[in-house]
Amino acid sequence: MSFTSEPTQEMSQKPSHSPAQDLKNMTDLVSLCKRRGFIFPSSEVYGGINACWDYGPLGVELKRNVKNSWWQAMTAREDIEGLDASILMHPKVWEASGHIAGFSDPLVDCKKCKSRFRADQMDPKVLTAKKCPSCSGELTEPRQFNLMFKTHMGPLEDSASVVYLRPETAQGIYVNFLNVQQSCRQKIPFGIAQIGKAFRNEITPGNFVFRTREFEQMEMQFFVKPGTDMEWFEKWKHIRMQWHLDHGIRKDKLRFHQHQAGELAHYAKAAFDIEYEFPFGWQELEGVHNRTDFDLSRHQEFSGKKLEYFDEEKKERYLPYIIETSAGCDRTLLVTLVDSYRFDGERTWLELHPGLAPFKVAVFPLMKKEELVQYSQKVFLDLKKQFRATTDDAGSIGKRYRRQDEIGTPFGVTVDYETLTQHTVTIRHRDTMAQERIPAENLGRYILEKFENWNTSKTV
Ligand code: ATP
Repeated sequence: MSFTSEPTQEMSQKPSHSPAQDLKNMTDLVSLCKRRGFIFPSSEVYGGINACWDYGPLGVELKRNVKNSWWQAMTAREDIEGLDASILMHPKVWEASGHIAGFSDPLVDCKKCKSRFRADQMDPKVLTAKKCPSCSGELTEPRQFNLMFKTHMGPLEDSASVVYLRPETAQGIYVNFLNVQQSCRQKIPFGIAQIGKAFRNEITPGNFVFRTREFEQMEMQFFVKPGTDMEWFEKWKHIRMQWHLDHGIRKDKLRFHQHQAGELAHYAKAAFDIEYEFPFGWQELEGVHNRTDFDLSRHQEFSGKKLEYFDEEKKERYLPYIIETSAGCDRTLLVTLVDSYRFDGERTWLELHPGLAPFKVAVFPLMKKEELVQYSQKVFLDLKKQFRATTDDAGSIGKRYRRQDEIGTPFGVTVDYETLTQHTVTIRHRDTMAQERIPAENLGRYILEKFENWNTSKTV
């Protein structure tokens, strides 16, 4: 990521140390996230609970920015409506969707150390030898393990009261297809977007918030006329890839992975994953699927209610095909952190896109002297009207810059003695550490202009 405008002559370029390196291992990121209040282990005072995480003050802000960016990209379109369906749904939904019969992973246990593994992720040789990769103990035969969390609705814990925590948000969209279409008088093609929690009792969660048992999804289901589905599928593939690039995610770290015949879900005609190169390898970030009319026809069959669309102009009735874009919110947030993490041997900073950064600007009095603190407070309150800003007067100015670098604040503004007489301030750029002196009254305009020209206009 770079600024489109070249540094001006007045800008002093501070020498960087060794060349900036990317994140090498997840432990460094986990530790930064805890130290700076992005993400904490859940229930930590009780020793934590496996693969559950709590978003702290900065994490929740970053996550909100990710969600807002997605929501904006989707619902600003005239052909997409929003929805917030309930997490608990009629149990028949999961019969119709195929989740009760087929939403499972093959599980093997070690009889000795009790470790559990996903058979489909194991080395086939290890599986044939039935030897535990951790302790060499004997492994059980693979058995299918349903990933849905079961609970009971109401006071009776019998089979009639079983409900599930939704393992995906999509089904809430399918069963509301006609409600949304008719209430908003939408015509096909149109889509429904939803952000919400999903739960999967994953056998092998891990890699920080990459795979957890409780997570958030950002899903959009686009309803199209059969025959136009592949054209829309291609459009959505590109729109979604561009969205990630627009956040400044590096192009060489993103790729498409096409599902081959054996990988394709039973309902899918075509599927591509958008993958990112994490420190632990290339992994799925988002899926774009052509789900055909599978979902609506199943809900029609199981509910006994017609879910067909009626085209008033052509007097045609049909079940639409669905193009799905399904992104993990937590995974997208993880990508923004992993991709923006830089370390030059001394300094650690996050090159977060300004639209995502929890704070856009930090204001510091050079020293804790009354007149500097007062002036700086005025600048801070002024900037706060325009941007999410923070202020800090504790410790040396260098330490304060470093703290902001680690949380990805794009700009730092320092109020010093010259400010008091000249009404100018120093503005420091997070990524280059370049500093510039500008009139305090120009700050808002200056920052806004830099944000508007932030260089993310990479195209797929
Ligand atoms: P995977 O192969 O990684 O298990 P999936 O193919 O089952 O993923 P989908 O059902 O397509 O995933 O879910 C859509 C998106 O939801 C994924 O691309 C991912 O970003 C997110 N997601 C799925 N499972 C999890 C999880 N356990 N933790 C966090 N995010 C998840």
